[in-house]
Amino acid sequence: MKYDPENIFGKILRDEIPSTRVFEDDDTLAFMDIMPRANGHVLVIPKTPCRNMLDATPEQIAAVMKTVQRMSRALMVAFDADGITLQQFNEDAGGQEVFHLHFHVLARHAGDRLGA
Ligand code: 5GP
Repeated sequence: MKYDPENIFGKILRDEIPSTRVFEDDDTLAFMDIMPRANGHVLVIPKTPCRNMLDATPEQIAAVMKTVQRMSRALMVAFDADGITLQQFNEDAGGQEVFHLHFHVLARHAGDRLGA
């Protein structure tokens, strides 16, 4: 499947639509999910075009995972979390809705349940 730069995260990267950015480096951007499924829900994306895990390069995966770990640690502190859940979806059948590679980083609190 081909990458379409008009996807919503492509627009966030180009600042064509607003987002709450929480971290960025040369290769990745982290921002708050607009419909959080947990009290503390961050999305991490590569800055370079990539549809999902199926077309990602090892370099994109490495850069994104480095930021995912950084955001996991940050959410533990910022949201006084008890744990972290990671989610990542690929293609329609895999539950993906926005076709720019992203990881969900969700702060978890003892006894909580993830939203829909
Ligand atoms: P997925 O593709 O992993 O199924 O889900 C895409 C995620 O992107 C959803 O959690 C949704 O709430 C989030 N999302 C969709 N549109 C926007 C947007 O315009 N801004 C932000 N910050 N998040 C969005």
